[in-house]
Amino acid sequence: MSSNIIKRMNAKTTKTIPILLAVFFLAVLTLSLLFGNKVNAYFRTWVSGRNKAVIDYIRAPQDHSDWELEALSRCSDAPFVLPTHGFIGYLFNDSFTPLKLHTGLDIFGGKQVGQTPVYAPYDGFLTRELDWKSSLILRIPQDPLDPDQQVWVYMTHLADPEGNSLIEAAFPPGTQEAAVKQGDLLGYQGNYSGYPGSPTGIHLHISIVRDDGEGKYLNELHIENTMDPSPYFGMPLNAASALKSSPVCLPLQ
Ligand SMILES: [Zn+2]
Repeated sequence: MSSNIIKRMNAKTTKTIPILLAVFFLAVLTLSLLFGNKVNAYFRTWVSGRNKAVIDYIRAPQDHSDWELEALSRCSDAPFVLPTHGFIGYLFNDSFTPLKLHTGLDIFGGKQVGQTPVYAPYDGFLTRELDWKSSLILRIPQDPLDPDQQVWVYMTHLADPEGNSLIEAAFPPGTQEAAVKQGDLLGYQGNYSGYPGSPTGIHLHISIVRDDGEGKYLNELHIENTMDPSPYFGMPLNAASALKSSPVCLPLQ
């Protein structure tokens, strides 16, 4: 190769590198503007230690019983009681799937499928849609924190890996508006993921879901349709601010 050609190639390379770098930084900037929150949340769930804590707990719950909270316990004057026994492993706003924010709490019971009871966290009216194997939703006509609005509490994973329900027989598919009291037994923790034969960890997922303003619950899979459960339970349960792996009651005000 003649030295002229090499010089031209070098000149070309020195021009190309800054252009590639600029494109790269623009792409990073655009992505972080679009998804920054969600990317942050994904890293935060790792950095906070919650992923590790959940894995450690599932492997050996007996070694971490100090992380567990009692079912039906309540923090000072919080309106909700804890609906089940266990370790609150994942919080609201955690992210264990890239670009997806967790809309509620995951409470891991540390026992086998069907062994850890799930209770109503508050008085309300229970619905189980016809095709729901593992889920329930509780309508609370007056949100205890904002009595002008109606609010819903969604609970899921109450079925075994094949989708056999662990919900109490009093609430069969198609149940609409069954009156329940705080502390009533609803069923048991399971690990049904929605896909038979592909179980998740044994836990209860619980989300506080907004009403659409016309008496119907919104889709709980979207974070904007759900609410920070912290004030309902009197605990720091928003991953954006709570970094501790094992939540405890907030200090009295
Ligand atoms: Zn969950």
